[in-house]
Amino acid sequence: MLVAGVPMAAYFAAETWLHRTLRVQIAEKAAIVLGRMDNAIERATLSLQEAQARNIAFCNAADREALSLLVFESPVLKEIAVIGSDGRIRCNNIGSLAQITAASTPYVTRIPHLALSVALTRGTHGRALRLTLASPSGTMTGGIIAVGLFVPYGEVQVSNLGLGIDVELVPGGRLVSVHGPGGVAGTADVRTALVSEHYPVRVEVSASSGAWRQQKGWIVGAAVGGGMALGIALAGLVLFGWRERGPVADMYRALRNGEFIPHYQPVIDLDTGRILGCEVLVRWRKPDGRLIPPGAFIGEAERSGFIFPLTLDLMRQAAEELGPTYATRPGLKCGFNLCAAHFRDERIVGDVASIFSHSDLKLTQILLEVTERDPLPDMDGARAIIARFQEMGVRVALDDVGTGHGGMSYLLKLRVDVMKIDKLFIDALGAERQSTAIVDSLIDLAAHLNMEVIAEGVETFEQVEALRRRGVRSAQGYVFAPPLPGSSYCQLVQAMEPAKTQSAPLRKALRG
Ligand code: C2E
Ligand code: CA
Ligand code: CA
Repeated sequence: MLVAGVPMAAYFAAETWLHRTLRVQIAEKAAIVLGRMDNAIERATLSLQEAQARNIAFCNAADREALSLLVFESPVLKEIAVIGSDGRIRCNNIGSLAQITAASTPYVTRIPHLALSVALTRGTHGRALRLTLASPSGTMTGGIIAVGLFVPYGEVQVSNLGLGIDVELVPGGRLVSVHGPGGVAGTADVRTALVSEHYPVRVEVSASSGAWRQQKGWIVGAAVGGGMALGIALAGLVLFGWRERGPVADMYRALRNGEFIPHYQPVIDLDTGRILGCEVLVRWRKPDGRLIPPGAFIGEAERSGFIFPLTLDLMRQAAEELGPTYATRPGLKCGFNLCAAHFRDERIVGDVASIFSHSDLKLTQILLEVTERDPLPDMDGARAIIARFQEMGVRVALDDVGTGHGGMSYLLKLRVDVMKIDKLFIDALGAERQSTAIVDSLIDLAAHLNMEVIAEGVETFEQVEALRRRGVRSAQGYVFAPPLPGSSYCQLVQAMEPAKTQSAPLRKALRG
């Protein structure tokens, strides 16, 4: 009795911990999604207030241009319209019929004159959040936000377990309803709902604890397994108790506190010495000021799925930080590191599009790096995702070439635009004792496949010369610059690269 009782007690204790950990994780998800909604509504409201302050009475070219500019500058708004007291659109930024085809009852908010409703839109945006701001004269300014922004791909799971995420306006009106891999609709029995303090918005995140338990089955199995069970279950308890306060929970907290910051390493043109762009490399800036390099947390971030919100956050930060400098230097590029898991689901394509299609950092300036170090689970799927990026004008690089699984077959099948040759092979250049045969054949291969080459980890002048002799045009490394904080990188670019002033027609075309 006692012998059976101990593992059973361990089992139930382990269960309790499992449940608690899951609850913490889904509560964190809910807080992130809600925080993003609040933030988007706040920013959109500021744009609407600005539009209202312009007192647009007619709809001439200047009025439309003013509205276009506001949408162009807004990271969240897809459309702004001035609506007459009869409810009809007087003017909007697109100069044609509004995108909205139907809208729910408007719900009031705590912000005076601001109401929210669910709208159905034409085209690709589908469901959208509509904001209307009433003015004393009886007109209204309306704006719409695409809801895909709130729940990007990658955030509908924790440790491989699919979550359900629902966002709605209260008292009613579904805005978003997405389910992660292995859909949990209907079976979810652990859920957290949060309601915004500022707006009539409710976010609910749910998961099936049964599916979760199955995933963590070893701990439960061990707990009922007899003799060894107690020890293992206790180890599980410690593990999960620790996890709750442990690295993944810490990372989510740090993300909310803005502790993950991008650094930017310049990429240099070896022909001209000019700056071609940069690679974004993440740093964890702890509250005490220490900078933790990615090697210390990227592995855990990838295993736990935290890499998805982290990558999107870095993209948003870079768009904001580099935007003003890059807007006037359209030739500059900015590279982001993606991991193998990003190439499993096409939603990453929509996420990248929604971040950069309305930012000053343009899709055509983006380079996405996929490392060769980890195997890609589905080559055809990855190729399809790469093709969609390329159609949008985003370029894709194979990173760490020469070190990983794929080698030649990745280069042939993935059809990326850029080959980044790993430091390991660059080290061989300029060091007489090492063979340069691999670098030479990689450079040859890139030329045959019509790919650009970027040499990584260039540390010496001998290497610079050796690369130039071989016709390699782009390089990054400590010989030029380490990864720099945003302000230093922008100052460097502003000092080195003249801004291109756009002609008025081009500027207009870009905004249109
Ligand atoms: P990586 O993508 O190969 O990045 C290049 C690494 O080489 C960076 O290390 C950079 O600081 C370092 N490096 C650059 N020039 C030199 C040089 O001349 N000599 C030497 N010895 N090193 C140089 P870092 O910043 O520590 O990043 C390490 C790795 O962490 C990156 O390797 C990348 O795989 C990963 N990583 C960094 N940021 C991100 C991110 O935002 N997302 C993902 N998924 N991975 C990231
Ligand atoms: Ca890289
Ligand atoms: Ca690399």
